[in-house]
Amino acid sequence: MKTSVSINPATEEQIAEYNRLTKSETHTKINSAHAAYLQWKTTSYQERAKLLNALADVFETHKDKYALLATSEMGKTLDQAVKEVEKCALICRYYAEHGANLLQNVTVDTEAQQSYVTFQPLGVILAVMPWNFPFYQAIRFLGPAVMAGNTAVLKHASNVQGCAFAIEEAVKQAGFPEGIFTNLNLDSDAIESVIAHENIVAVTLTGSAPAGKSVAAIAGKHLKKSVLELGGNDAYIVLEDANLDKATDLATQGRIQNNGQTCIAAKRFIVLESIYEAFIKLYTEKMGAAKMGDPTDKDTVYGPLARIDLRNELHEQVKKTIAQGGTLLLGGHIPDRKGAYYPATILTDLKPGMEAFNEELFGPVASVIRAKNETEAIALANMSKFGLGAGVITSDAKKGETIALQLEAGNCFVNKLVASDPRLPFGGIKTSGYGRELSEYGIKEFVNIKTVWIN
Ligand code: NDP
Repeated sequence: MKTSVSINPATEEQIAEYNRLTKSETHTKINSAHAAYLQWKTTSYQERAKLLNALADVFETHKDKYALLATSEMGKTLDQAVKEVEKCALICRYYAEHGANLLQNVTVDTEAQQSYVTFQPLGVILAVMPWNFPFYQAIRFLGPAVMAGNTAVLKHASNVQGCAFAIEEAVKQAGFPEGIFTNLNLDSDAIESVIAHENIVAVTLTGSAPAGKSVAAIAGKHLKKSVLELGGNDAYIVLEDANLDKATDLATQGRIQNNGQTCIAAKRFIVLESIYEAFIKLYTEKMGAAKMGDPTDKDTVYGPLARIDLRNELHEQVKKTIAQGGTLLLGGHIPDRKGAYYPATILTDLKPGMEAFNEELFGPVASVIRAKNETEAIALANMSKFGLGAGVITSDAKKGETIALQLEAGNCFVNKLVASDPRLPFGGIKTSGYGRELSEYGIKEFVNIKTVWIN
């Protein structure tokens, strides 16, 4: 029997082992999800909203328990894990309150007696999700999907199966009928047979570009819709008029929160020449002062990475960047302690073509790049295959907006770290993926946008 294993990245101890599903067990669960869909699509928005609010209640009531599970499986600090579970409740409540309105029919004036657009569910949607926000990533998809009348199956990351089963349990506890949401504990090799299944209508994936390419290719082969939310290596431009204290606070938070493992987090800081040295000095002090340690300790600012292999891979990327001419200002070594720890690291003198400039570094590693002027800063920011969440830090909000509009990314924030909000669409362009999650745009990804014409 194949299994997946959860290992606490802070201690390297095994927490649990979960049996993988066989192909026939998987197909039985997909068929049950389809049977549940046939009933679920006939329910009212009011009924769905009631259950989504009940799910929000479950998250709020048990947030400490779920947070501890997330921390023990992937290493984020407990307070950030609690915030993640609270955000799941927020998403459920948002769609409970606004879902019906977002999916209202839209009348269009034509020569017809009546013509309108209506939004109907599609069926069973497959979600392939990563470990970095083990509750939030799944709920960000699930909330709108079930509000629209779909049902869902989840192939979660192998290292967070405890969280995956906890979500399944939470959905059950909220009172949703059997089959509305099902966790499939699968190896990623089994994905093709799931996507190919006649009762799977679409797939959404959050994760790395290689995983996205593979899933999108399989979905294309079987003519199923896909939505992809992939990585980023986004730029924050720090202008000459930026408040350096604020800029370095944001830059520290951007690279440290969630132990540096956030797709939309700031990763490349493009700093104007006149303030470059001052920025570096203050930034090195702040990154160096952030306390790394046991993620369950209250005074810990960042914990370990999610897995030892990911930590080792990150270190290889740092070493490669240095070999290519980058300068290491802080961190950059594997600490002599148990766990997948990696210290806050700053790389400077980065140029296009270097590893840290071109690729996503998923951990507390900041890349600082010098720009002669704003035009060069914008060009350097856009010199990336990714385009997820970029930012501008300046005292002149109008100028910030003008630059934000020129950045090639799905989300561009001025004087704030990019963060998702259920009221606003979330997603990327270029290698960061396609399609949108959250807001009205997200709930309309997995519906039949049906035109009705009556003469
Ligand atoms: P992956 O992209 O490999 O994993 C994300 C999810 O996709 C997991 O459920 C994984 O399953 C699954 N998966 C992986 N490969 C395939 C495939 N070929 N077909 C179907 N499903 C697949 O991320 P990693 O954990 O390996 O992390 C590697 C890098 O990915 C990180 O360093 C980071 O750069 C990026 N990443 C980006 C995230 C984001 O939020 N955009 C989140 C996580 C990672 P399984 O766990 O079983 O392999």
